Amino acid sequence: MAQTHILGYPRIGAQRELKRAQEAYWKGDIDQKALLAAGSQVRSKNWQAQQSAGLALTTVGDFAWYDQVLNHSLMFGVVPERFADGAADNKLDQYFRLARGRAPSGEPVAANAMTKWFDTNYHYLVPEFSADQNFELDAEWLLAEVEEAQQLGHNVKPVVIGPLTYLWLGRGVDNALDLLPKLLPCYQQLLVELADVAAQWVQIDEPILGLDLPAEWRDAFAATYATLGKASGSKLLLATYFSALEENLPLAFGLPVDGVHIDAVRAPQDVAPAAKLLNDEQVLSVGVINGRNVWRTDLARWQKELQPLAEKFGDRLWVSASCSLLHCPVDLETETGLADAHKQKLAYSRQKLDELNTLQQALKPGADALPAFTKTESRSEAEVRAELDSTWRAQKYPQRAEVQRERWQLPLLPTTTIGSFPQTDVLRQVRRQFRNGEISEQDYNQHLRAEIAEAVRRQEILGLDVLVHGEAERNDMVEYFGEQLDGFVHTGNGWVQSYGSRCVKPPIIAGDISRPNAMTVEWSKYAQSLSKKPVKGMLTGPVTILNWSFPREDVPRAVSCLQIAKALREEVLDLESAGIGIIQIDEPALREGVPLRASGHDDYFAWAVGCFRYTCSEVQAETQIHTHMCYSNFNTIMDAIVALDADVITIESARSDLRLLQAFAGDEGGYPNEIGPGIYDIHSPNVPDRAELVTRLQQLLEVIPLEKLWVNPDCGLKTRNWSEVGAALLNMVEATRTVRAEV
Ligand code: GLN
Ligand code: ZN
Repeated sequence: MAQTHILGYPRIGAQRELKRAQEAYWKGDIDQKALLAAGSQVRSKNWQAQQSAGLALTTVGDFAWYDQVLNHSLMFGVVPERFADGAADNKLDQYFRLARGRAPSGEPVAANAMTKWFDTNYHYLVPEFSADQNFELDAEWLLAEVEEAQQLGHNVKPVVIGPLTYLWLGRGVDNALDLLPKLLPCYQQLLVELADVAAQWVQIDEPILGLDLPAEWRDAFAATYATLGKASGSKLLLATYFSALEENLPLAFGLPVDGVHIDAVRAPQDVAPAAKLLNDEQVLSVGVINGRNVWRTDLARWQKELQPLAEKFGDRLWVSASCSLLHCPVDLETETGLADAHKQKLAYSRQKLDELNTLQQALKPGADALPAFTKTESRSEAEVRAELDSTWRAQKYPQRAEVQRERWQLPLLPTTTIGSFPQTDVLRQVRRQFRNGEISEQDYNQHLRAEIAEAVRRQEILGLDVLVHGEAERNDMVEYFGEQLDGFVHTGNGWVQSYGSRCVKPPIIAGDISRPNAMTVEWSKYAQSLSKKPVKGMLTGPVTILNWSFPREDVPRAVSCLQIAKALREEVLDLESAGIGIIQIDEPALREGVPLRASGHDDYFAWAVGCFRYTCSEVQAETQIHTHMCYSNFNTIMDAIVALDADVITIESARSDLRLLQAFAGDEGGYPNEIGPGIYDIHSPNVPDRAELVTRLQQLLEVIPLEKLWVNPDCGLKTRNWSEVGAALLNMVEATRTVRAEV
């Protein structure tokens, strides 16, 4: 009979218990003992859920006080010098210092860098290697959790990140692969220790097998796993996920491991060849339940497809979720406000365990056929791409720029901001009161107008050139639009870990999207009525709305993206008719949706970039379109950025060196239109020094032509307070005046 297991379970707790405990501990409200108890509670509930659903194995090692990659850095002694202090007496505080720079004990220190885990919205802490890096195994925490689970009666399968993926994720040395010979003995030792505590199976994650790997990294797999296979007293399950194995398929199945997991949601085409490559003793684990989304699975489809494999392989066929359920909310049962019609179609992590059980039963010989899933008739992605072929504005940028210069009469080096202004405590409180029905909509709107008026007044005094309304009406740049568009569902408890104790609650795209009413026009019109200077309209772009939501599974993502683009186009045209002549359409999540394999890039950009252009292709030449992205490393996606054809792009750049900006320089292959590289970092509370800003602008002028350069901060200012923002922007405006006088 086919067996069931998962690669990992969310660790935040069904009511975000871990988040609350972490934050209370950091604040000093609870002691370490209480924190440890909260973690242990979450773990035992997670294990219990797996056992109750009849899973053959209980996965252990997926818990983390902050991040699973950081767990490994501590396990292998990848702890830079600056964190050494005080570790002996308080290991957990050392862990938190690595994660976030501070802990209840010890001195504050610069934390490890954080970056996105493959193509997810989860952020991991980047291992920081040094050239003379040594590794030393300390698997105490993992062994303790294994024993903790065993004592609770679980058949435990520990999970660790594989050595090659771990090295790939790190930074600090030219070629992390050079560190492999030093790291491998730690893994050998680890496998010995896990076998000693009687782990029958160990899951080793190597998701990099789904990437376009350089040859030397691919080549390293055979010898690495020959060594690990020999060292291990447990059976090894090599787990891959997030993309197709393609050319790495024979490599993965040729390794001396006892089983291989493949992601059949992202790469259903890998199932048949994988089954062919399986040797007579190996296990094939097929991830058919989507670990990245919230919809019920078409189990009837998988029953049909997997039946022959179940017959052939018996208990060597394992069924699973595609990847760790870390990227899914925890338990649908906690959703009290969702309509039944929606709830019936959804499955969070807890429900996905039950789905595995159902599928397992359905794969038994002679089992009844599961009820067929209703299919949606849909356009294909290719049809969407074809429709988006001709979405360019009527006039090319050089002509538009001339008309726009004429209309706007902006000074050289125009100053602006990215959109949001501080969300004050009062504002948050008023929003809460409105949501709880304690104040009327009229009072709430009155308050928002006052916030907008205040933001405009302050910008006037500061002397900024292009103003914003400040986004007081939005708590979140995606949710705000999702709530006003038809087709979205908002959950009460659909939280997913983003990093550390931070969780996000993405809206769910549940149907066709349309715009019943204008969404931002009244606010923008009001703000514009208060100033003679232009006030930018402010929208979130279609790709970002899509990428920060749970997408539909019954239509291609491109179909939903175009529907959002159509809704946004209506909004753009309404803004234009209302006299808003500069409109910013933010796309900070464009890069996040880029497929992990280069072979998928062209198709993705064809519809993603096409949808962005679609939102603004009908506006007049004199209407100036801005876009904004929160990153500066565009090296591999420059062509796509250029193809957005925005008149102005503002990007994050204050923390990167000028070399990164060279890509934008414009002469050959750079960004041909106008650019505002953020000149100071908004993530820090420090007020940038005026003289430093002058220098920064002078440096920027060495790479970007004077008539194309805009001056602005790195990103929105909603997380800062007014005194920081006022002082920083004043210095920015004054520095700009100084530089203007020189050129
Ligand atoms: N306009 C948004 C803001 O200023 C942009 C946020 C973002 O780029 N993430 O907050
Ligand atoms: Zn940003």
